[in-house]
Amino acid sequence: MIVERPCPRCGRVIVESVPRPPGRPKTWCSVTCRRAASGERLAAASGVIPTTYVPVEISLEEHAQAVLGSPAACRRVLRALAEMDVSGRLDEAKWSSVAGELERLRRPAGRSMWRR
Ligand SMILES: [Zn+2]
Repeated sequence: MIVERPCPRCGRVIVESVPRPPGRPKTWCSVTCRRAASGERLAAASGVIPTTYVPVEISLEEHAQAVLGSPAACRRVLRALAEMDVSGRLDEAKWSSVAGELERLRRPAGRSMWRR
């Protein structure tokens, strides 16, 4: 799956794959922004300009709400799950609860466990 978020300095979109590859997550969109931000932090520390990068932790619930608020994001999640299903990744133990939810979705409407 692909995740997009804005560069904290310029706002340009940073694209990352999930699960994330090993190593530190990208903070900046480019070497240019990383160096500029470093320079700005040094300048801020010396009192020249009042700029500081404040990392913001986003909870899993906030991520889920963001996805559920976007039809495009929901579509991407569903497509990614379908691809994982086809490739057999959902057979892995850690994905068994997700595979179970998908199985419930596939049941005929009259027999759905979602129905109240
Ligand atoms: Zn940037």
